[in-house]
Amino acid sequence: VPPIRVAIIGAGPCGLTSAKALAEAGITDLVMFDRGQRVGGNWVFDDASGHSSVFETTHIISSRRYSSFSDHAFPEGTPDYPSHREVAAYFESYAERFDLHRYLRPSTLVLRCTPRPEGGFVVRWRSEIDHSEHEEAFDKLVVANGHHWLPRWPDYPGTFSGEVLHSHDYKRAAPFTGRRVLVIGGGNSACDIAVETSRVSERTEISWRRGYWIVPKFVFGWAADDLNHAIAQRLGWIPLAWRLKALEVAVKLLTGGHGRYGLAAPDHPLGATHPTVNSELLYALRHGKITPRPDIERLWVDGALRQRLIGRVRHGHRRNGLQDQSPLLRP
Ligand SMILES: Cc1cc2nc3c(=O)[nH]c(=O)nc-3n(C[C@H](O)[C@H](O)[C@H](O)COP(=O)(O)OP(=O)(O)OC[C@H]3O[C@@H](n4cnc5c(N)ncnc54)[C@H](O)[C@@H]3O)c2cc1C
Repeated sequence: VPPIRVAIIGAGPCGLTSAKALAEAGITDLVMFDRGQRVGGNWVFDDASGHSSVFETTHIISSRRYSSFSDHAFPEGTPDYPSHREVAAYFESYAERFDLHRYLRPSTLVLRCTPRPEGGFVVRWRSEIDHSEHEEAFDKLVVANGHHWLPRWPDYPGTFSGEVLHSHDYKRAAPFTGRRVLVIGGGNSACDIAVETSRVSERTEISWRRGYWIVPKFVFGWAADDLNHAIAQRLGWIPLAWRLKALEVAVKLLTGGHGRYGLAAPDHPLGATHPTVNSELLYALRHGKITPRPDIERLWVDGALRQRLIGRVRHGHRRNGLQDQSPLLRP
């Protein structure tokens, strides 16, 4: 291999595996830049860099078996769905095992990468310790900066003068103690956060703009993805669409369907979107800990300066008899 110098942006799972693969190919002149202080990326909870989106009670939604690299298993005794701390420790142990810490340049934020006329890139980076800026030339560049760290905000007409927080900045439930909380969304973070705040809030409501599939973490005693893979291995000759249909039927049999929980029915087949894996949301709904709400149409502050959010009635909700247009958050 001709001597080449490679910059890797990010020391999360993708940066680490890139460094390992390059080193195994004999390319060892590597610099793994990371704005954080440790390896592990999104799994380094509360890192000063603000990159991580995990919160205090996050457990992975893909099971241990299907969340590990093929050459490094989770330690014996790890639960089916490890916590973010166990996942971060796993990435640390991976870096340790394959001697990847030697490439890490912690607390360095890459600001710009400029192609050089003769090939390669000039990487401009800033030290997060003394804020000094530097430039360095590299022959190749690996971008492994993650895809969950930039919050995407919805745009609703009207105004809302209460406190608004993106799930990226949610870290723990304690600040929601005794407060009225509306969680918007049906993805994994939204459902996890609704369950967590419902334990301490005065009231937690969840607004969905459409139906989402809620896959329980365990199906017939199997971790959901474990079962899916077992079926794929044994019945691989059955087309994927049919297997997913069978899983859909199993989920409906287990839960009784969304209508029983006041939720909109999914308008797409299971597998067409990223699944929401959660075993506590439906339980909390039927225990009155969380109240389901339809989509938000607009926000306003009424005469008494109280917040009101009006739900939009959509087809999926009408089918489930959820026709009420009452304020989402009553004063
Ligand atoms: C709440 C949550 C739960 C999740 N649960 C699961 C799950 O159960 N299973 C699953 O498979 N996936 C899950 N994911 C997806 C998650 O993105 C992946 O697990 C994984 O972390 C992606 O790895 P990555 O290396 O691509 O990015 P990241 O882990 O995000 O790492 C990117 C790294 O790049 C660094 N970086 C970024 N920009 C710069 C810069 N300009 N300069 C220097 N450094 C920079 C960051 O500091 C970070 O360390 C979850 C994500 C979230 C947010």
